[in-house]
Amino acid sequence: MSLYQRACRVIPGGVSSPVRAFGSVGGDPVFIARASGPYLYDTNGREYVDAVGSWGPALLGHAHPEVVAAVQAAAARGLSFGAPTQAEVELAEAVRFRVPEAAKVRFVSTGTEACMTAIRLARGATGRDLVVKFAGCYHGHSDGLLAAAGSGVATQGLPGSAGVTAATAAQTIVVPYNDPDALEAAFAAHPDQIAAVITEPAPANMGVVPPRNGFNAFLREITKRHGALLIFDEVLTGFRVGYRGWWGLEQSSVERVETTPLAEAPDLFTFGKVVGGGMPLAAIGGRAELMDLLAPVGPVYQAGTLSGNPLATAAGITTLALADESVYQRVDAASSALQGAIGAALDSAGVPHRVQAAGSLFTVFFGDFDGPIDNYAAAQQQDSAAFARFFHAMLDAGVALPPSGYEAWFLSAAHDDAVLNRIVDALPAAAQAASRS
Ligand SMILES: *Cc1c(COP(=O)(O)O)cnc(C)c1O
Repeated sequence: MSLYQRACRVIPGGVSSPVRAFGSVGGDPVFIARASGPYLYDTNGREYVDAVGSWGPALLGHAHPEVVAAVQAAAARGLSFGAPTQAEVELAEAVRFRVPEAAKVRFVSTGTEACMTAIRLARGATGRDLVVKFAGCYHGHSDGLLAAAGSGVATQGLPGSAGVTAATAAQTIVVPYNDPDALEAAFAAHPDQIAAVITEPAPANMGVVPPRNGFNAFLREITKRHGALLIFDEVLTGFRVGYRGWWGLEQSSVERVETTPLAEAPDLFTFGKVVGGGMPLAAIGGRAELMDLLAPVGPVYQAGTLSGNPLATAAGITTLALADESVYQRVDAASSALQGAIGAALDSAGVPHRVQAAGSLFTVFFGDFDGPIDNYAAAQQQDSAAFARFFHAMLDAGVALPPSGYEAWFLSAAHDDAVLNRIVDALPAAAQAASRS
């Protein structure tokens, strides 16, 4: 019996999170025994170049020796105390150093909790019930945020989730991404009832679908005009696409993100993935008076036995300390080079496709597209069968891609030229496979 068969006997679908199953690409998921730098090793000892990076956290590469040493040292001091620690203060200070607009920070264990808490905080602050989210954006699996949630939900081909009550679903208004008119209409239809608009400021859970020039600035303006809060869910982009996350990239209008800067910061940020350095840790941040609405100072309750866990904070502090500008430059350069090579390989095999990027995050959409893929409906036009053929050819050649066309590729500072060349060498055959229908 294979490990996967054994897993399926005791774990639904054999996986602890649906995106790990090969639902949309077919075949059995690869079970990983260990990872190092840019490489994964399966339970048979086979090596793969990894382009998943644990879905984001592995910015420095897997098992960075300094991060591992920090976690080991923390573990020797105790796994969890249920009491405040100096490490939480240091990590909060490190987050605030990069994103001063997150003046106060509350740590939780998952991005799901961070977004759920941000929504509760927005409702508590405004006394309003409704929340607006964009179709195709993923903000974790809490009931109210699962509508048209992209990512794993999209990969399973589900509109949302069973088990969410109609009453809860009715409190989430879903509008198409990159569509100012739809958002104006939502506010007009629900005057003084919308607590917050939550967005991925550069969506990467419906595949990478960057904001149109000025869209985030528009979100700031319309929320302010209607007395609603704006939540930037940077669980994925935060400290991955740049030193200060997507917010920082937009504000500095760096070369690759030409856009109108926001007039003012978003009210709340959520962070996860990189901020925990591969351990279960996420955060909510915002200006002090808003964050102080959280218990024990304010009336909005939120808690967690393992929140701010000492191993997780050690991993986060060390990861952020090591992730200097040169790390982001390396990941950016690796990403640009790879995007170019993928485009060239697919072009020469005559495979219609579109590569879309937001900072170093990118997705290869298979299919014929006239222009930019701007929203979830457009992303759903992709040729999933061509992606599946491409995915399996890459996997056969020892390159592990995210097993869904609705995900971004994640590179790391450990993806040097030799590693990239292994990916590039696998491209021609994979492009040929994608072209055969
Ligand atoms: C991954 C992700 C989440 C959920 O984080 P978990 O730690 O998986 O609960 C929320 N928002 C965005 C944008 C994400 O990419």
